[in-house]
Amino acid sequence: MLFSQVVGQSELKKKLRDSVMNSRVAHAQMLVGPVGSGSLPLALAFAQYLACTNRGETDSCGKCAACVRYAKLEHPDLQLIFPKNKTAKIDHKNFSSKDFLPEWRKAVLGNPYLSLNDWLKELGIDNKQGAINVDDSREVLQNLSYKAYEADYRVVLIWLAEHMNASAANKLLKILEEPPERTVFLMVAESTENMLQTILSRVQMHRLGRLSEKEISEALSTGSDDGEQMEKLAHLADGDLNLAKNLLEDQASISASINFFIRWMRACFVLNLEILQELNEEFNALGREQQKALLAQSETILRKVLMYRTLPETKTKLLKEELEFIHKFSRFIQVENTASMLEALNEAHYHIERNANARITFADLSFQMSDSLMSQAMN
Ligand SMILES: [Zn+2]
Repeated sequence: MLFSQVVGQSELKKKLRDSVMNSRVAHAQMLVGPVGSGSLPLALAFAQYLACTNRGETDSCGKCAACVRYAKLEHPDLQLIFPKNKTAKIDHKNFSSKDFLPEWRKAVLGNPYLSLNDWLKELGIDNKQGAINVDDSREVLQNLSYKAYEADYRVVLIWLAEHMNASAANKLLKILEEPPERTVFLMVAESTENMLQTILSRVQMHRLGRLSEKEISEALSTGSDDGEQMEKLAHLADGDLNLAKNLLEDQASISASINFFIRWMRACFVLNLEILQELNEEFNALGREQQKALLAQSETILRKVLMYRTLPETKTKLLKEELEFIHKFSRFIQVENTASMLEALNEAHYHIERNANARITFADLSFQMSDSLMSQAMN
């Protein structure tokens, strides 16, 4: 991560860079900021700056061997610690962050602004709590006992340090006070409320503010986008860049689903096999998760149509692009045929989840939808 890839926080960036330039890097530091403010990407940019062998005044070079490894979060002098819990794949008694590294790297490289919940979702355990446990601390101590390392500094980065349990925290106290030479602990946290005073008293504290609406809308904008739309999202996100990105993605995926659903229902209604075949190819080209999401969103749209039909006042809750379609489509919808369509969608979702053939599932589903629509039209 480069400083230039981190949104806003310019004052703190400068403070961190200056500490390196003046060789006054504190050996234990904590970056505290609200979710989506960028404390993790900033910590990663700082760690990379510490490791870069050709750093400039304002940023890492991005090209040296250290930077190349940092770009993959694979530098040997970077130890990564973060909350996690047992998953279907990793369920042995003792486990540490190391067991989850490939997944964590992938998640963070995909979205360095991710929340704890996003991460636990990636692991498929968002119904559980994540924790930093004593096995993590044990590994930190063991790792730091090796003398040899290549960069100017070794970094132990602890993401969401407030999720360290008491035994993990206690085990780190001594080394936090007197770490080996040129070792830097970088803790990232959203809040210090539940942290041991003994930890807090040992770190240099940096606070990150919420990002401004302007910073967020600029970060979201790709140039051609509707500026007004981005401002609206930035306002809704209230300083949380991660939330803003999620809102943007949701909106894009909802629009895409509505578009697909409209074409699909039209083709079902007149049983246009050629278009159904095209849609089947489109469906088949999606990944399993996207196929499931598309079916789930189709269910949602159908429920809205039914709601619109039975309680027209609900239209205030619909997106503009939904309303037009739903208004027209609601003529073909009754409680009975909606129920059978919802059931068919639900069943298809079930089969896709269990790895059924996507082409056959979709074709079968399309015929059922078509039947249900036509039965209503004939009545
Ligand atoms: Zn470099």
